[in-house]
Amino acid sequence: MKLVFASNNKNKIAEIQQQVGSQFEIVSLEDIGCFVDIPETAETIEGNAILKANYVTENYGLPCFADDTGLEIEALNNEPGVYSARYAGEQKNSEDNMNLVLQKLADQTNRKARFKTIIALNINDQQYLFEGVVKGEIITEKSGNMGFGYDPIFQPEGYSTTFAQMTMEQKAVISHRGIAVQKLIDFLSQIG
Ligand code: IMP
Repeated sequence: MKLVFASNNKNKIAEIQQQVGSQFEIVSLEDIGCFVDIPETAETIEGNAILKANYVTENYGLPCFADDTGLEIEALNNEPGVYSARYAGEQKNSEDNMNLVLQKLADQTNRKARFKTIIALNINDQQYLFEGVVKGEIITEKSGNMGFGYDPIFQPEGYSTTFAQMTMEQKAVISHRGIAVQKLIDFLSQIG
């Protein structure tokens, strides 16, 4: 069965296809001829995941899932949250975003943070949501050069390295997205 992943991120698509196995064929937006950058205008992470999945199902009539992620920092009232990609501006630059976070937390002793991913799945005329959360803290200086986004300043609970110092495989086992994807896979294998 074909399942659309509402993304054109080749890394994410390959990673998820590998986890899902041969039972489902994961296809990208480009694969179905959708070249629209689906606007993420909702005010919550859940809302944006739903919006992207619904866009595909409504316009293409296909089963689809979409993901959305945010970094929630306790001392900043859960900012940047839904604005994680564009926290320091529309240029969506990871260095600028991390610098802004470090600057805002400069005098803070509470550095608790968490990543949250929501996956929205539309299948058989039903919608299902899967959540993945990883708790951790924002360290004071960037460390590591793997991964992307806020990885160099996020240290997951129980570890002494940042996500940017872990391989993709190590990160996937404990990460917000890895956890949400695993829940999606468990569900898909149940419904066959
Ligand atoms: P998206 O919804 O997956 O596009 O994520 C939104 C933003 O959150 C990204 O632009 C990144 O800044 C940040 N982000 C998402 N996932 C991760 C991650 O695994 N590590 C670090 N930053 C992330």
